[in-house]
Amino acid sequence: MKKIVIATNNMHKVREFKSLFPNGDYEIMSLKDIGYNKEIIEDGKTFEENAIIKARQVSLDLNVIAISDDSGLEVKALNNEPGIYSARYASGHDDEENNKLLLKKLKGVEDRKARYVCAICVYHPDNTYRVVTETCEGLIIDERRGTNGFGYDPYFYIEQFQKTFAEVSLEQKNTISHRAKALRKIKEICNEDFSFK
Ligand code: IMP
Repeated sequence: MKKIVIATNNMHKVREFKSLFPNGDYEIMSLKDIGYNKEIIEDGKTFEENAIIKARQVSLDLNVIAISDDSGLEVKALNNEPGIYSARYASGHDDEENNKLLLKKLKGVEDRKARYVCAICVYHPDNTYRVVTETCEGLIIDERRGTNGFGYDPYFYIEQFQKTFAEVSLEQKNTISHRAKALRKIKEICNEDFSFK
C-alpha cells in the first residue's frame, strides 16, 4: 500500500482529508503522525503556488508522496480579501479574531457574496506533481450559527442548505465543499493518470 503524507498541521483539514481518502487504497498519514515539524514558509502569491510549496517540501524531505491544501475565503465586496491570507487575516492565526475582523469590514455592506477556494497539490518525490483548484459559493452572515467545521464556517451560509457550514455534518459539507471537490479530483489523478499509479 502506498503511503501518502498530508502536508498540513491543521487537524480540521486532516479530518476532512481522511474522511474522503479513507485508509484502504492508501495509508494516509498527517505531519503529526510522522513527527515532521520543520517550518514551511508559504510565500506564494496564489493558492496554487502555496499548495505546491507545501507538498514539494514534505515530499522531497521525506521521500514520500505528499498532498497539500492551500485554501481560503474570498469575499466579493472586499476585493476577494482575505484570500491567501485567510488563516492570518487578523495577524494571529486565530479563527475568532479573523471572523471579528471580517464582520467589521462587512458592516453596512449589502453584498455578502463569498466563496471558499481550495488548491490541492499531490507531489511525487520524482519531482512530478499535479494541482487542482475548486470553489464553493456562499454568503457571509452577521450572526454566528453552528459549532461544526472550523475557520469561517459559522458565518458561511449555504443557500442550498439554508444553513451555515458549521450547522451541517461533515458528510453534508463534503457534498459541496471546495476541499471535497478538489480532493475527489486528486483522488482520480492518484488512481488513474499520475505516475505513481
Ligand atoms: P491555509 O492553512 O494557509 O491554507 O489557510 C486556510 C484558512 O482558510 C483556514 O485557516 C481558514 O481560515 C480558511 N478556510 C479554508 N477552508 C475552510 C473551510 O472549509 N472552512 C472554514 N474556513 C476555511
